[in-house]
Amino acid sequence: KYGQNNPKIIDYVESLVNDNDPHLAQAQQIAQHRQIPKIQVSPLDGRHLEVIVRSIGAKKCVEIGTLAGYSGICIARALPEDGVLYTFEYESTHAETAEEVFQAVGLSEKIYIFIGPALNNLSQINDKGPFDLVFIDADKESYPQYLQWAEQNLRIGGVVLADNVFAWDHIADQDIDNPNLRASVDGLRQFNSTIFNSKRWRSTILPTGEGLAMAVKMY
Ligand code: SAM
Repeated sequence: KYGQNNPKIIDYVESLVNDNDPHLAQAQQIAQHRQIPKIQVSPLDGRHLEVIVRSIGAKKCVEIGTLAGYSGICIARALPEDGVLYTFEYESTHAETAEEVFQAVGLSEKIYIFIGPALNNLSQINDKGPFDLVFIDADKESYPQYLQWAEQNLRIGGVVLADNVFAWDHIADQDIDNPNLRASVDGLRQFNSTIFNSKRWRSTILPTGEGLAMAVKMY
């Protein structure tokens, strides 16, 4: 097999993308200092986000799962002057770190952070829509509900991106004993099944290591 299964090719592509981006480096420094877990998207997935946001000319974006703002930078920097990113984070320490990061890199004016369970807070921005893009990267068991919200609040032609849809290589496993993993896999399977089987969506999965789903709202 070629490409994604060849570590040399992965290293090669990552080296193309890793252009010593000062803002992303600063974000990681702040996150490290605050002892935030290193579970942000990879540099290559960050670039996927940036390029997709730019290519659809997105102005209003939503992110579910802010962590310390790494992917938020990738999205927000791709927005026009009057563009906005609404980002939702459960953990206040993560959200506070993201706030510091967005200030440090000069993006705080276009980013609004909502702290708490996203399912409780998303309705606060319903009147700001319709949105151009929703990036889902939080608790996997809630992906189906996040998708429902996106379906109601995206414009036609708007895009859902969702990370980790390969469930850390477990998406095709039959027997999963760990109940937390099983809940995540069930959520991701339901999400994947909906975006591929509903006529509302036209979808693909970018076969990054994590699996980055991309679904366009058709009507
Ligand atoms: N998108 C981030 C990035 O690439 O920089 C990484 C997000 S990290 C994988 C997942 C984040 O989702 C964590 O910060 C976690 O606290 C947050 N999270 C988990 N459950 C959540 C929920 N119910 N509502 C909002 N955020 C949640």
